Amino acid sequence: MSSTESTGNTIVASTQPTASTPLTTHAGSCHCGTVTFTVRSPAFPGQVVVSCNCSICSTHGYLLIYRPHEDFVFTAGEDRLRVYSFPGVHKGKIGHWFCPECGTSVYAASTDPGYHGAGFKAVNVRTLKDVDLRSLELKLVDGRSL
Ligand SMILES: [Zn+2]
Repeated sequence: MSSTESTGNTIVASTQPTASTPLTTHAGSCHCGTVTFTVRSPAFPGQVVVSCNCSICSTHGYLLIYRPHEDFVFTAGEDRLRVYSFPGVHKGKIGHWFCPECGTSVYAASTDPGYHGAGFKAVNVRTLKDVDLRSLELKLVDGRSL
């Protein structure tokens, strides 16, 4: 487990694979199956996963990878998702999308095209079906101190 800490956009940049890293397609869904999708990313382990201690990450239990929007494809239920956002360090500019049926937190993303992480979805790795959560290479981020 890594204990490297970083802030802001460097969190996204530091998790991105090099151009030569092969990408694989992972199937994901919320708990009840209303929302299903695929995500292209490097294989696990090998893909750095962010574990952050800020209020929203710790409450949702997020384990996040940052993938360009085009690497995240809905196969069902996109229109069913609801979004939560709140004032605070991100000034309400980050949306947190979840399934209203089972409550699963699926992903977060900037709701402002010019803001932190725009162009990426922060995907909750806990929703990916082929990932062994015990094998992950975690990058610990001290979001609580931002
Ligand atoms: Zn659901």
